[in-house]
Amino acid sequence: MPSPGPQNAATAPVTLGTAVTTGKPGSGPHRPAQRLATRGDGQGVASAFGESVGFGRVVRLGDVVWPEVPEKTLVVVPVGATEQHGPHLPVDTDTVVAEAVAAGVAAALAADGPVLLAPAIAFGASSEHAGFPGTVSIGHEALRAVLVETVRSLALWAGRTVLVNGHGGNVATLETAVAQLSAEGHDVRWAPCAAPGGDPHAGFTETSVMLHLAPERVRLEAAVPGDTRPLSVLLPELRARGVRAVSPTGVLGDPTGATAAHGAEILRTMITTALTVLAHA
Ligand SMILES: [Zn+2]
Repeated sequence: MPSPGPQNAATAPVTLGTAVTTGKPGSGPHRPAQRLATRGDGQGVASAFGESVGFGRVVRLGDVVWPEVPEKTLVVVPVGATEQHGPHLPVDTDTVVAEAVAAGVAAALAADGPVLLAPAIAFGASSEHAGFPGTVSIGHEALRAVLVETVRSLALWAGRTVLVNGHGGNVATLETAVAQLSAEGHDVRWAPCAAPGGDPHAGFTETSVMLHLAPERVRLEAAVPGDTRPLSVLLPELRARGVRAVSPTGVLGDPTGATAAHGAEILRTMITTALTVLAHA
């Protein structure tokens, strides 16, 4: 996970309630954020964009037809990874989390105008997990190129691009790519999926969020504690030897006690933190 962002959520551009509730703002139970941005059944894209409340204005990019794309619309792009997440979480965990946080961010930002939610970039820089089957890493240079060309292409018709990153190994590449794009004059920001105090990988934090978002995909009976030393202590060894040498199960942290309720709260924190980071970017 990337390092925690600013703690003060009060400066987020809109309230979190807008981002994580569905139906009438401020009412109803919390729902998985990744389900919020889908257009209503039987509604065309144009009518979805035409609604005056925030949620109606978040549309999945994959759903649009080109004449209905608003000019200079904001586009939110989840950036994930495909890498082992222990014996109990699917390899697309970082992508699922990035999509959920991106959907929450998009819903919040939609209060200010139309927002398109792009398909996730599902391959990232995950070489530290290369010792495990299931991992697919395209490496830093390829990821940088993907990010740069994605934003350049979006910039031909979109306004601002917001990248929401779900994998800590992508951070250095994101910073490089965003710096390059900004220097080229593109309007681009990025935000992490950060939960202050969370454990690094396939532990309590990610297991809880996945139990909230996709419980049917979590093999909870296979969950085991991994190396629980802080990431700051583990990093040199991880970089030198890879995750497998440090944790044979691939878990860095401890999924014991993870629950969907914790996951819902952690997801709210991730969305709030991302909005705060974006508000200060
Ligand atoms: Zn992860």
